[in-house]
Order: sequence, then structure tokens, then C-alpha cells
Amino acid sequence: MSNPTTEAPLPYHTYDIQDTAQKLDTNLEDGLSSQQVQERLQQYGHNQMSGNGGVSPWKVLFRQIANSLTIILVAAMAIAFSAKDWVEGAVIGVVIITNTTIGFFQEYRAEKTMDSLRKMASPTSRVMRDGNLAHISTNELVPGDILVFENGDVIGADARLFEQFNLEVDEALLTGESLPVPKTLETLTDPDEPIGDRINLVYSSTTVTKGRGRGVVIATGMQSEIGKIAKSLIESSGDSKTKLQKSMDKMGYLLFIFALLLGVVVFAVNKFRITAEVAIYAISLGIAVIPEGLIAVVTLTMAAGVRSMAKNKAIIRQLNSLEALGSVTNICSDKTGTLTQSKMVMTKAYIPGDGYYHISGAGFIPEGQVIRLGEISANDLAMAGSSDSYTQVVNYENMGAPLRRVVEVSSLCNMATLKHDKTTGEWIGVGDPTETALQVFATKVGRGRPALTQKTDNGHPEFSLHAEFPFDSTVKRMSVVYTEEKSGKHIAYMKGATERVIGCCSRIKIGDREETIEKPDQLSQMIGYQVEQLASNGLRVLSLAYRYIEPQLSETHPDYWTREQVERDMVFVGLVGIYDPPRAESKESVEQCARAGIRVHMLTGDHPATAAAIAREVSIIPPNYRESKEGPKLVMTAMEFDALTDQEIDDLEELPYVIARCSPDTKVKMIKALHRRKKIAAMTGDGVNDSPSLKIANVGIAMGMAGSDVAKQASDIVLTDDNFATIVRAVEEGRRIFANIQKFVLHLMSGNVSEVIALVIGLCFADSSGLTVYPMSPVQILFLNMVTSSPPAMALGLEPNNPLTMRMPPRSPTSGIFTLEIISDILVYGTLMGGLSLLNFVLVVFGFGDGNLGHDCNSAYSDACDLVFRARGAAFSCLTLLILLHAYNCRSLREPQWLPPGIRNYYSNRPLFWSIFLGCGLLIPVLYIPYVNTSIFKHQYLTWEWAVVGVSVLIFLAASELYKLIKRRTMKPNIVLVDDEKAAY
Ligand code: ATP
Repeated sequence: MSNPTTEAPLPYHTYDIQDTAQKLDTNLEDGLSSQQVQERLQQYGHNQMSGNGGVSPWKVLFRQIANSLTIILVAAMAIAFSAKDWVEGAVIGVVIITNTTIGFFQEYRAEKTMDSLRKMASPTSRVMRDGNLAHISTNELVPGDILVFENGDVIGADARLFEQFNLEVDEALLTGESLPVPKTLETLTDPDEPIGDRINLVYSSTTVTKGRGRGVVIATGMQSEIGKIAKSLIESSGDSKTKLQKSMDKMGYLLFIFALLLGVVVFAVNKFRITAEVAIYAISLGIAVIPEGLIAVVTLTMAAGVRSMAKNKAIIRQLNSLEALGSVTNICSDKTGTLTQSKMVMTKAYIPGDGYYHISGAGFIPEGQVIRLGEISANDLAMAGSSDSYTQVVNYENMGAPLRRVVEVSSLCNMATLKHDKTTGEWIGVGDPTETALQVFATKVGRGRPALTQKTDNGHPEFSLHAEFPFDSTVKRMSVVYTEEKSGKHIAYMKGATERVIGCCSRIKIGDREETIEKPDQLSQMIGYQVEQLASNGLRVLSLAYRYIEPQLSETHPDYWTREQVERDMVFVGLVGIYDPPRAESKESVEQCARAGIRVHMLTGDHPATAAAIAREVSIIPPNYRESKEGPKLVMTAMEFDALTDQEIDDLEELPYVIARCSPDTKVKMIKALHRRKKIAAMTGDGVNDSPSLKIANVGIAMGMAGSDVAKQASDIVLTDDNFATIVRAVEEGRRIFANIQKFVLHLMSGNVSEVIALVIGLCFADSSGLTVYPMSPVQILFLNMVTSSPPAMALGLEPNNPLTMRMPPRSPTSGIFTLEIISDILVYGTLMGGLSLLNFVLVVFGFGDGNLGHDCNSAYSDACDLVFRARGAAFSCLTLLILLHAYNCRSLREPQWLPPGIRNYYSNRPLFWSIFLGCGLLIPVLYIPYVNTSIFKHQYLTWEWAVVGVSVLIFLAASELYKLIKRRTMKPNIVLVDDEKAAY
């Protein structure tokens, strides 16, 4: 079997590109075919590091066995067996096995979910396959794939370059070299060249810091350079515990110590005459104290939450962010693609001295007309396109020279391509949306980039590319240099944000003339009004320029220019206006945030007027907002914001709602300002430079479709649909999960308190021989803890969303699960339940019975013990029912069980309903099946005692409602509905 990736050494850097392609049997244009990919996946396996193989069942099993509960249970079993209490020992044994098995499967499933989600969030790669550009999961790369990458991408496999523009790659991970390495295509000669010097190769896991390129994959998985040194470098799988889980663990330890103390108390009460009975009672108390189900339920609830979020298009990378989401007070969002559709269409152009043009047509379909509007008012501009009074259609042939240049810049200073999918008939834009819009425009007049750069009849293309200085959100412009076949000259084209382009211009094209610009701000005065007009119609405005340029000769590069050499002395030709409609759901989502006490900020690279127009459309600023001296300045440019000192920012009444012309540093400044105001901020980002702000935000959110790998790796959450509405849904889900965790913590812990109270006070009952009579048996306690309370607690974790969730202000980040209210609830409900069940025991024995506690009634049934056994049955039945029904109390901390209507009813959480129903039903066999009742549970069935139990249940329900009523009357309201008026503009 020929296996190019395993032949050592691999001198691909010494092969020229044709040899490489031949050896790997691939096509540089079209890539591999699907069939080849399948064969190679079989041959070489997936592109992943071995040893990073996901969830280990053994680890999960170990965690199940080595926990405090299992240890306590094993001790109980050992004691039972040594005391020859075979039945009890066996029951405990069965409990251990069932508990471990159920726990194992639940946790294994949860871990699997998490693992597959981690994989979903893992990097993707772009490759050419079957002649199309495809996005695939990086672990599906195979040798021979044609890899396409650009600034911000993490390279998925080792590859031999065959195309590159200004490509620089950060290889510090591999070689320790701290500076990015510039790459070339040249074939090297020395087969033993060190890795770091093989500059015509790129390596798996390194990051592109500049430029773009294409390469043929030469090695994947463990064969790649990183694979060879992989083990030490494999990222930790990110399963570190969250804050919440850690605090739960801590609480677990504390309770364990408490359980030991209670054990000592039991021994002390029995004057340290430690019989098996006494030991088992002590252990029962331990079982009662420790909320066994808690950690499992937390994990399960989180896993379920993460799963449902993934379904809703938000992939959680860091579990911690799930907790933070519920506290988010401010969301800082990008505009393009997040609040807007990113389906950009160029609709307007402005040529100095000539006036406006309207471009008709929809979407990416390259059909439409260019209509001359001339110099018109702002109002008419807004109406243009919908009116048919303008009929001056222009085509390429009768276009003036400046408009022709505008078409040329649009077409050539552009890396996007337009494809026609023959099967669906749809037009697809591949590349940057802004550039796609310009490409569509150029294609509409028959001057798309392919037409200009493909060879003509004379064997030469009209234009051939020499250099490219790509767009990035810091410089906000892009330039290219071409050779113009007709004149034989080099020509540079530039496009970008107006302020960034006019600074590079020294001339302006008016008609066939070029006028020199005398003063620095002359140009901005000439076109400032038009930029404002276009932008205030919500259009993204780009300025276009060009110039003929002399080659800069250097020895190694015949046509070599630095960015500075190209981007000066340009000739300004015109403006283009691109419309990017807001997403339909953005406005509603922003308003939903306002109702939920969350402020939305838009941080965009766009012009302030464009930003303000879109912000108005989606309700981020009021429709009638105008800047005034008195009110807060809601729309700022990054320049204005950056010029403020921290103190000045802190003195602002309100942080700006919109920051235009925003650069990545401004985002960081904004987050810091929010943090100084004690706000919890979510921040979106897509570019490489966004990583710092994504990292310091409380919740960093990366765009899954438009985002770079670097941004994704710096983020906590990745949105697979890049949609603002998804963020809002995730916040809602975060709030729901946290509230549910609080609910089941309350349920489980108050159950435990009730058992402890019953058992500790129960130590006071002594029989005729002075021995303690236990009001509950160990098996009863096990049953209560494992069978009665865990299922409803789990179901509380699934409690559906309460529509009021997004009408309340965000939860304070400092208040963890255990707020004062929750602690008091645990104690009050716990005491109430424990007290009532003990009262059942007391009433049955002393109230209605003759007070005879028999003799040695802890282990075996006898006629003399009948009363005690019945009393135990009553106490147990009462507590079972109370714990089950208490789950309904826990659905809301303050609202009555039955209210508010329309929000929930007894059946709206079906698992909860059924767990309670079945839990109650289980009482029957446990009480009435002979032998099971007296020998295992150590209780007897009930007759008239049911009346006592029933009354206790009613008392509990009434007392709980009274307690909630008192809380509602006396405590500060926890539901402050955010004012609707204030919410929507
Ligand atoms: P947001 O931050 O809201 O998502 P954005 O990311 O689109 O907005 P940038 O991409 O930073 O913002 O764009 C800022 C400005 O740069 C735009 O208003 C436009 O003038 C200019 N611009 C955008 N894309 C290009 C491009 N491909 N070539 C040249 N200039 C561009």
C-alpha cells in the first residue's frame, strides 16, 4: 500500500507543486472527488490525534464507585451482613448496584453529549472537493485535499502551498518562533531543512496571522508535525468543573463532615455501646444528610440545557458560561450578519460632478439596471428605486469614465466570487458579503472579475493581479495592484471606509479630468454631505479610488510594493451604498432584551449614520433620537469613545448604545467600562482581532459561520447561525437552567433536612429496656432519598420556561444558588416536613395508641412491636407524600402552587407529574406486601392512620402557602416586571 504520509522523511518541501499534486493524486483546481475522500479516510483514518478519544467509560464508572455515598452504603452493607441481618444487607447491596448502574448510564450519556458538542465546536476547514468549496470538520481532512485558508484560520493539516498572498503564519506552538513566518511557494532544495525553515509548507494547528493561501494536504493526524509531538500539546478537553459544580462539591464535603458528627452524636446517645443496630442508625443519618442525587442532577440538567441550546443553534464551549448567561446585563453585538442578514446588495452609487445612480435588482442575481438619478434631495434618494420616474438607464458602453472606474474597482478590488448553482438555479456569493455585493454589481454591467481576469482572444487577460493588501477591520480598507493589458501599466485600486480612503487621496476624478486636492479636508467637505445622505438611509458606504503606479523594483521581487507605497496619492472616483437589511427577528429580540432588563449595544465597523439608521430600525435607539447637549450621547464613534479617559467614561450617565467605526480595541475598552460598572457583559465577535474582547467578556460569543477559528477558540459560545436572536434565546435558557437548579436544590436539601430532623429527634424515644426506638428504618430512609426525592428533583431540572423569566431583571452574579431566601426555605420546609412526619409517629404511638414502645422493635416484627411498626409506617407515608408534593412548592419560590394561570398547571411538566404520581403509587406495595413491609422496611400497613397522614398533608400544604404569602407580603419582590413602556421604542 502506498502511503505517502507514513514514508519518512517526507521531502514535500523539495517537490515542486506539480510533483506534489501528482504524488498525492489530486487536482489543484477541483480537489479530490467524494470517492477519493472515502478511500483515503479508510486508508489514513480521521485527521485527529489518538489518545484524545473522548469519554472513557472506566473513568465514569470509577467516579460512580468512589463517591461518599457508595462508601457509606458499602459500610452499611458490611455492618448489616456482620450482624447477620441478611435481608437488610441484601437490600443495601441491591441499592448500591442499582444506584451505580443508573448513575453510570446517566453520567455516561451526559458526558457523551458534552463530548459530541465539543466536537461540533471544534474547528472547521475549507477545502475544494468535487470542484466546489466545502466547509468540513477539520477531522475529515485527508492527504490530497486542497486546503483554502486566510487570516485568522487555524490550519487543519500539514500542507504544501501552491498559492499565497502576503501569507504569514504563527508557528510558535510548533517551533517556538515567536514572530509570524512569511511563506513562499518556491521549491526548497535541502531535504533536511529544519521544520521552521520549510517555508513552502504550513502545519496543522498553526494560525494564519496575515494574508491567504491554498495548499495540498500532505499529512494528517498523527503523521502531521504536530501529531508527532502531540500528546503534550493536546488541548485539555475542557471538562474542568464550573463554579457551580465546585461549590456543590464543597458543600458535599461539608455535609459529609456533618454526617460524621451526627454519627458521633448517635453513638454518644447510646453511651458508646455500639451495636450493629446503632451503627446502622448512624449510617442512616449519614444517608439522610448527604444529598446523593444533587451532583448528578446538576450535571444532567446542565447537559440537557447544553443539548437544547445546541438544538437552538448556540454551542456551549465553556460550561461556566451557562451560569454567566443568566446574569448577563449587557449584550454588545456586531451589526453585520448578527443584527442584519448580511445579504448585502449594492443599491446606490455617487459620482462627484455627476450625481447619484440607483442599481436595481434583488439578491445575488446579477441582473438589473443602472439608473442615473443625478443630484437629488435626501428624500428623493430614499424613494429612488421604488419610483419609476427615473428612466435614464446607463449601460457599460455609454457610461462616463468615472463610473467605469467605479465598476472596475468594484470588480477587481474584490476577492469574492459569484457562482451559479445549476441544480437549484440559485446564485451564491462566496467570500466577504460586502465584496459579493460589489461583484454582483460589476457582473450586472458585464464586468465581473472573471470577465476581466480571464485570458482574452489575444492570449492575455485584460487585468492580471500582482499584489493584494487585504481588508481588515483595523485599517478598514483594501487595495490591489493589477497590470492593465491595454496600457501595459500597473494600476492600483482601493476601496474602504470613507475616512480611511480619502486620507490616501490627493486627487479627485470629475468627468474626464483629475483635480488636485489642495487642502486636507477639502475632499471630505466635497463628499461629506453625500456620505451622510447615503448612510442615513441605512446604507453601508464605501469610497473607491485608483491610480496608475510605478513598479517598485527590488532584487528578489520584480514587482514589489509595501502597503504604504500603494496606498497614497490615489484618485478618488466615487461612493457606493450597500444595503444590508436587518434580520426580521432582530427588532423583537432587542425589545425582549429591554423587557428582561438587558441593554443591547451595537458595536459596528460601519459609519455612524448607517449604524444609527439600523439601530433605529431594530429598536436599539429610540426612533426619534437626535443628539442633544442635555441627554446622554447614545451614538458615538470609536474615535470619540477612545478619546475619553476611564474617569470620563465612568462619569457618563449612560454608556453609548451604538459605537460606530469600532475597532477591536474599542470593544475591549467597552467591556472594561461595563465591568467597572459591575455589569455582566456578553460580547460577539468574528475577526481574529476580536479574541481579546471575547476573552475578557463574561460571555464571549463567536460567529460559527462568519467567524475565524481564532475567535471561536477564544469564545465561550459559538452561534451556528450568527443570529442575534439566538443569543437572546441562550440568555433565556441560561436563566431557566439556573432557576431550575435552584428549584431542585431546594427540593433535595429540604428533604434531607426533614429526614435529619425526624431521625435526630427520634433518638429521644426509648423502649422499656432503655434502647432507642428508631422512628424510621434504614431502608425507609434509603427509599425516601433514592426513590422518592430524586425523580421529582430531576423533573424540576426540566421545568419548562416560565414566560416571566424574560420579564425579570438579570440575576445578580454575586448571589449564588444559596441565597438567604433559599437557605431559609430549606430550613422552614425541612422542619415542617420533618416535624409533621415525627408528629405522625408520636400521635400513632402516644396520641391514639397506648404509648407502648415494645421491646427491641428496631430489627424484627412482633405483636408487641405492632404499634411502633404502624407508627413508622405512618411517619414514612407522611414524609413520602410531603416530599413528593413539596416538588410543586419548589416550582416557584413565592408564587402559590396553582398560580399564575396560563404559566403552568399541574400537568405542564409531565415528568414531574408522573414522578409524583408514581412515587405516591409506590407506597401501596411498600406498605401492603407482606414480608416487604415488616421485614425489609420495618413498618406495618396503615388503616385508620391514613387519616392522620391525610390531615398532616393538608396542614403542610396550607402552611407552605401561608409561608409563601408571608414572604410575598414582607420581602422585597423578586419579580420586578420591567416596564413595557421603557422596553420598546
Ligand atoms: P460589524 O462590526 O457590525 O459586524 P463589520 O464587521 O461589517 O460591522 P467592518 O467589517 O469592520 O465592520 O467594516 C467597517 C467598514 O469597513 C465598513 O463600513 C466599510 O466601509 C469598510 N469595509 C467593509 N468591508 C470591506 C471590504 N471588504 N473592503 C473594503 N472595505 C470594507
